[in-house]
Amino acid sequence: MKYLTLVHLACILSPDMKQKSTPSVKHSKKPSRNRVRERTRELRRAINALDFVASGTLHKRTKVCGRKNCRCAVDPAARHGPYYEWSRRQDGRLRHSVVTPEQAELFTRAIQNYRMIQQLLVRWEHETAKEVLNSGTEKMP
Ligand SMILES: [Zn+2]
Repeated sequence: MKYLTLVHLACILSPDMKQKSTPSVKHSKKPSRNRVRERTRELRRAINALDFVASGTLHKRTKVCGRKNCRCAVDPAARHGPYYEWSRRQDGRLRHSVVTPEQAELFTRAIQNYRMIQQLLVRWEHETAKEVLNSGTEKMP
């Protein structure tokens, strides 16, 4: 009787155990949120450490002003700038913003962070698929 009470308590405390299991032929073990959390702990920590996030690209360019007696007309090293432009898709349209060198630095970091998150999400997706599709099999690493 005491054993039954403890089992019941465990079911209440663990949300993973609440749902009634649908009978599965292949799998003996149910997918576990806790196992996925364990496997994704490092990548969630990595995402948590990020701050600025931006999609798109940053362009650095120099310009020729067009005045004939300006050095930029003959010397590529004397071109004006650099000017920075951040381009990204927003609401389905390509948007461009001219940004300062300081903003460009932040956008460079934000774009790196964005790509990092995308990679981490791909790994998270894989871990989820592994857990849900392969739970119960002995071949899991
Ligand atoms: Zn010029």
